[in-house]
Amino acid sequence: ATFSDLGLADWVLRTCTELGMRKPTAVQTHCIPKILAGRDVLGLAQTGSGKTAAFALPILQRLAEDPFGVFALVITPTRELAYQLAEQFRGLGSSLHLRCSVIVGGMDMLTQAQSLMARPHVVIATPGRVKVLLQQNPDIPLVFSNTKFLVLDEADRVLDAGFEEELRVVFQCLPKSRQTLLFSATMTSDLQTLIELSENKAYFYEA
Ligand code: AMP
Repeated sequence: ATFSDLGLADWVLRTCTELGMRKPTAVQTHCIPKILAGRDVLGLAQTGSGKTAAFALPILQRLAEDPFGVFALVITPTRELAYQLAEQFRGLGSSLHLRCSVIVGGMDMLTQAQSLMARPHVVIATPGRVKVLLQQNPDIPLVFSNTKFLVLDEADRVLDAGFEEELRVVFQCLPKSRQTLLFSATMTSDLQTLIELSENKAYFYEA
């Protein structure tokens, strides 16, 4: 397959070319059309498989059609991964003037609260810090009331690290009608449970 077979817009195809992405990887070929079609996705894929672009490209394409409010919340287990994800989103979304906030521990909470109140398009967060902000300031949950995508990146690690309570707080702030995209290196029973909770029939991809 080529990127243009996947239903991506011309500006997305140009971005891929500019970034030297000539051909979609397997996880991209399988998951991008399903995400564009509105399905939830559980993708088993390793780092290096191109999984970030597999969710970032369709999210950015949808965002370009309707740039209103916080569009996507991406949860990832560590600060380092959060910064790497933000870098990829910024690169892939450079022609959109994408506003992307990173919400992780160790940074000033007031600054982070202000950055959320400015309603960035994409929020990339570790579970602990986003939970604290959601509970601390009653205006913050409202920022997420229109969110279209929830992504759990390295979902097995997020769940293994005992973030159930944090995720529960996050999920309560998101609309039920959102799309949920789970990407994980391994399949776990927690992931199975999570995807079964999904309201729209999930697509399962395994490398
Ligand atoms: P990831 O698996 O998301 O961590 O991505 C690994 C690396 O592969 C990133 O640096 C991407 O920029 C790069 N990449 C993603 N998709 C493609 C593609 N279709 N062709 C070439 N490189 C890619």
